[in-house]
Amino acid sequence: AKYSKEDILSMAKENDVKFVRLQFTDIFGVLKNVAITVKQLEKALEGELMFDGSSIDGFVRIEESDMYLRPDLNSWDIFPWRPAEGSVARFICDVYNPDGTPFEGDPRMILKRAIAEGEAMGYTMNVGPECEFFLFQTDDKGRPTLDTHDKAGYFDLTPVDLGENARRDMVLALEDMGFEIEASHHEVAPGQHEIDFKYADALSTADNIQTFKFVVRTIAQRHGLHATFMPKPVFGINGSGMHTNQSLFKGSKNVFYDPNGELELSREAYYYVGGLMKHARAMAAITNPTVNSYKRLVPDYEAPVYVAWSAKNRSPLIRIPAKRGLSTRVEMRNPDPSCNPYLAIAAMLKAGLDGIKNKILPPDPVNRNIYEMTGAEKDAMGIASLPGSLEEALKELKADEVIKSALGNHALSRFLEAKEMEWDSYRTKITYWEIEQYLTKF
Ligand code: GLN
Ligand code: MG
Ligand code: MG
Ligand code: MG
Repeated sequence: AKYSKEDILSMAKENDVKFVRLQFTDIFGVLKNVAITVKQLEKALEGELMFDGSSIDGFVRIEESDMYLRPDLNSWDIFPWRPAEGSVARFICDVYNPDGTPFEGDPRMILKRAIAEGEAMGYTMNVGPECEFFLFQTDDKGRPTLDTHDKAGYFDLTPVDLGENARRDMVLALEDMGFEIEASHHEVAPGQHEIDFKYADALSTADNIQTFKFVVRTIAQRHGLHATFMPKPVFGINGSGMHTNQSLFKGSKNVFYDPNGELELSREAYYYVGGLMKHARAMAAITNPTVNSYKRLVPDYEAPVYVAWSAKNRSPLIRIPAKRGLSTRVEMRNPDPSCNPYLAIAAMLKAGLDGIKNKILPPDPVNRNIYEMTGAEKDAMGIASLPGSLEEALKELKADEVIKSALGNHALSRFLEAKEMEWDSYRTKITYWEIEQYLTKF
């Protein structure tokens, strides 16, 4: 471990920490906080802090509501945007039952279980995400609008783009918190940005994604902007994805790399891709878990629609970037940043491991633009589509034992129950589109 309890106590003192936030994630991917004063820190370090699990969506019922938070000491960090005096720190925590066993509905524990399965086969998973997001202006009451500064600034001569400034501060804050930022750029759509940080082991990356979203939102707010990770906030322009680069290591060796293999890829790499493709439709319920997610997965906006892979073009679900050696990796392009990163990474790992265990070979790569192929051409090549809606994805999930087992019974039943309600609520609402189409026509 990076830090001992003594290290934490002395760092808290040195940095004049006044508040500590104990963070964990609910099954829908929402970051939760219990704030304590530094006086409670020792108690928190002993894992003795209790919270009411029944108040967290998808956790437990009222009859069984006591839960304990155990801080992961390595996740200690001080928020750089807070004052240096009376500063605020945080821990990412694991959730435990009163009897001292890990809570099986804790997403972090679900990911740990998948990681352990990989490790039993000798593999360590590394993950590098590419998170995209939009920055929107807020109105005079501080409420988010759908106006981007780019658009507002189109006719105006000021050279300063609010969004670029905010992004710069986000990168600096993330670096202060130990992130290694590899790239940060404006994305295709107005107001859309991407910040890429260095890959790490699966658990660290899931933690990092949660921290990343929190930092991006916080810094945006300090610039009077609203950052959103909603997958498709605006019709007619690109949505936001969370391309997920993944590889398996054995010790210091990348097992996807084989200098003598086809495309310099190992058998394991092909099987892993085969597993991802086999389970892609069911996994979508987890990697693309909202009604809105499926409005992104349509042709012409650089988002994948079809279950195919390629080492060359970017329209398929899975791309193999050109880098080889230690950087050999598979890029899965459908996940979006509304997913719970712990569950999404657990599902992808389980799918890939299933590919390896059962030697699932993927079909031939598709190096053409699939958006331009006819239905008959796609059928002839056996190219399936990703689910077209959350409803379809949930049906697929219910029929896939491997992906269901990634979640485990507890999280699975809560997840399905909530997502089916979400779908039903959407299905029965009357939308603006319908009013526009039908109100005067009939
Ligand atoms: N925004 C696109 C998506 O939805 C990706 C664009 C890109 O990174 N090339 O996945
Ligand atoms: Mg990118
Ligand atoms: Mg991008
Ligand atoms: Mg990418």
